[in-house]
Amino acid sequence: MTANYRPSEPALAKSSVNSLEIQRDVAEFGDSARSLDLSVVVPLYNEVESLPRLIAAIEQSLDPTGMAYEMVCVDDGSRDGTAALLKQLAGDRTNLRAVLLRRNYGQTPAMAAGFKTARGRVIVTMDGDLQNDPADIPKLCAKLDEGYDLVSGWRKDRQDDALTRLLPSKIANWIISRATSVQLNDYGCSLKAYRSEIVEDMNLYGELHRFLPALAFIEGANIVEVPVNHHARQFGQSKYGLGRTFRVVMDLMTVFFMKKFLTKPMHVFGMFGFASTALGLVLGLYLTVLKLFFAQDIGQRPLLMLATILFLGGLQLLSFGLISELLMRTYHESQGRPIYRIREVVGGETIATDRHRT
Ligand code: UDP
Ligand code: MG
Repeated sequence: MTANYRPSEPALAKSSVNSLEIQRDVAEFGDSARSLDLSVVVPLYNEVESLPRLIAAIEQSLDPTGMAYEMVCVDDGSRDGTAALLKQLAGDRTNLRAVLLRRNYGQTPAMAAGFKTARGRVIVTMDGDLQNDPADIPKLCAKLDEGYDLVSGWRKDRQDDALTRLLPSKIANWIISRATSVQLNDYGCSLKAYRSEIVEDMNLYGELHRFLPALAFIEGANIVEVPVNHHARQFGQSKYGLGRTFRVVMDLMTVFFMKKFLTKPMHVFGMFGFASTALGLVLGLYLTVLKLFFAQDIGQRPLLMLATILFLGGLQLLSFGLISELLMRTYHESQGRPIYRIREVVGGETIATDRHRT
């Protein structure tokens, strides 16, 4: 017999959103019991024209499967009437949960709010602009059932502008696949399916929704990619411009650091700090010898400057590493987050029962 092991969590699990407002609101309205087969989480920012078509398309795709599902639509402070329409649609049906954020927080916090509210054992995320195709959802769920923790969509035939979207995305995909250990063709596709435990274990900040597979991998998930449909945007406009590339690179550095050094920051800062201090020290000693034993004038030498910078910079890195160690311990201990994730614990029940009997 197998038993799923889950580390005990406080009743109101810590919010993964960098906003206290969302943290409190979702804690009030959230429901952590996993009573449904599937939750489809959709962030919406000014998508009033797409919304009714999206709801209809999801229902059309999922109703025939017989799955107990819900749609969790998160209005991210839209100004075009999305919220009002969403409320109305949620009033008309039982399979739609509307989460209305107070202002526009961005796609990542909107998704995180949806995750907190979702009650499905499987969580599917997708965009609300009809670029992803709800008809693909059953395919993703079937793949998940084969034993994966995360199934990521691959927009094999992507319908976006070649120069402003496809090219930056190609470059970003190439860099990300080298910097993280997760080898995917398409990191930017929002259409993904997760087992809910994986989502619960992740904390989202910044615009990290693009790196969910990488974060899930850090949490030990089995990941696979399947080709999905992609359509051109019919209504409204994209919320992002070229500036996103820069933000993606910054987020990538965070993820890369988290993957490699989250539980041992001293290893990276300490290594560079030690090397730098040692080199500075050697150069300084060399200059001291020149000055003391060979009576050379070293005051004007660039090497003196270099030795000083290396020595002081190295000391700073070392102390930074120590501070990071403290922060890392606070990060894990304040949230009761273990530094490992157990998939399952098998056996051992007999011993426990025997002990109870005696
Ligand atoms: N979105 C959001 N908040 C934002 C920006 C975007 O909830 O601040 C939603 C948006 O409504 C859409 C999804 O995130 O459902 C993806 O955004 P978009 O289609 O603009 O991105 P693109 O497809 O152009 O990469
Ligand atoms: Mg889009």
